[in-house]
Amino acid sequence: MTTDAHVRRALITGITGQDGSYLAELLLSKGYEVHGLIRRSSSFNTERIDHIYQPAQAPDHRLFLHFADLSDGSRLVTLLNEIQPSEVYNLAAQSHVRVSFDEPEYTGDVTGLGTIRLLEAIRAAKIETRFYQASSSEMFGATPPPQNEHTPFYPRSPYGVAKVYSYWTTRNYREAYGLFAVNGILFNHESPRRGGTFVTRKITRAVARIKAGLQSELYLGNLEAVRDWGYAPEYVEGMWRMLQHDEPTDYVLATNTAYSVRDFLQFAFEHVDLDWEKYVRFDERYLRPTEVDALIGDYSRAKDLLGWEPKVHTPRLAQIMVDADIAALEVEGRR
Ligand code: GDP
Repeated sequence: MTTDAHVRRALITGITGQDGSYLAELLLSKGYEVHGLIRRSSSFNTERIDHIYQPAQAPDHRLFLHFADLSDGSRLVTLLNEIQPSEVYNLAAQSHVRVSFDEPEYTGDVTGLGTIRLLEAIRAAKIETRFYQASSSEMFGATPPPQNEHTPFYPRSPYGVAKVYSYWTTRNYREAYGLFAVNGILFNHESPRRGGTFVTRKITRAVARIKAGLQSELYLGNLEAVRDWGYAPEYVEGMWRMLQHDEPTDYVLATNTAYSVRDFLQFAFEHVDLDWEKYVRFDERYLRPTEVDALIGDYSRAKDLLGWEPKVHTPRLAQIMVDADIAALEVEGRR
């Protein structure tokens, strides 16, 4: 760790995830020293950041990883004292909606209480820092679209409920303690690094495998759900801009376009000249006890205040992801 007072230092929780890995790349490219929290696991879980990690003795070593967990508050205090970050991005969570019905208490602990542990650690360490909270369009749940920063929340899963808790905690710390704390209310955002159990990536991986003759069926749940799917690398740029603004406030990031799971299937399969209806089967295991039918975000505030606008829309996103999964299979085949 450098002792140079002018170096901007960021802490990312959830650095091993899709967004954490893109954000780490972005911040490193802007000259930041980046610290990430990782969880101990018996299997490797850093594959999304392995390409930017360097040995400690490398001269331009600016990415540091620390074992920690949002369920361990005292560890967070120790680390914040040590690192003294000027920006904290809280991206860590149990982030899967379907899984949150199976593990509601754990989801509440990490996705909800984890945020207050981190905010309390910032207060306890008495550091001056800006704070970004990964809020989610899942908080809108059953409230009809389009949704913006004034839309009432109506979460439909333990995950959504926990995110609402974290949203209000972040606002409360802003108002109560004058902390520069913002909520980025991000609509679904995807990429070749999206986890394989989210519907977009599940589809694009299957397309690549079906095209290669490695798979012949794809089991899915509700095809009628409508989502506003954007491109994750553009969304992490939006996160960073939120923390550079003069005033802390909350922002929606979205594309303001709506497609169903069925539409996404069409875009992905069509890209390799296949008819999705020949391969897709229904499996009720993928249904949720309560579903979010439609999310479409109005990102006018982010456009006006941050100059942020999405460039990649869902049809192109599906193609990018299919191409990446085909390329990944080819690399695997050569091993
Ligand atoms: P979410 O919006 O955060 O829940 O993101 P997901 O990618 O997990 O799900 C998006 C939508 O796809 C939801 O409405 C799901 O019900 C629907 N869906 C349909 N089939 C599947 C499936 O097999 N897996 C997942 N994850 N979602 C599915």
